[in-house]
Amino acid sequence: MQLHEFTKAVSNLCDFYERKEPKQATIELWFKLVNRMPSDPIAWIVQKIQETSDSFPRNITATFWASYGEWQNANPDKRAHRAFFDCPECSEGLILAKSKTSRCSYVFRCIRCKQDNTKAYPQASRLDLLQDYDVRETA
Ligand SMILES: [Zn+2]
Repeated sequence: MQLHEFTKAVSNLCDFYERKEPKQATIELWFKLVNRMPSDPIAWIVQKIQETSDSFPRNITATFWASYGEWQNANPDKRAHRAFFDCPECSEGLILAKSKTSRCSYVFRCIRCKQDNTKAYPQASRLDLLQDYDVRETA
């Protein structure tokens, strides 16, 4: 997460619990302990604290990490930060094709969904590839 996101979350909690906002230096020290956390769950964590805690958390960074663990358990699909969607012609934007003549395997980027932008792989459609390759999804 970014410092401004964390600052906003702390400020929001201070408002909620009618607490004086900490010094910026304090927020920055706290931030060092939570900056490895992704931004996605921040809103969820703030809401969770407001719903379950009677007061501003004594140890805000530990509370953030504990809530983050709960968020991960509640959102197992978001754990790996997958941004891929199901495309019937590829696997996560890639198509693995084995040449019918040389039996060598090649990786292509699916031109239909364009989910992968690894420049090293040429773009192709599954249908075109089928003429010269045995095609299967990548694992
Ligand atoms: Zn695709």
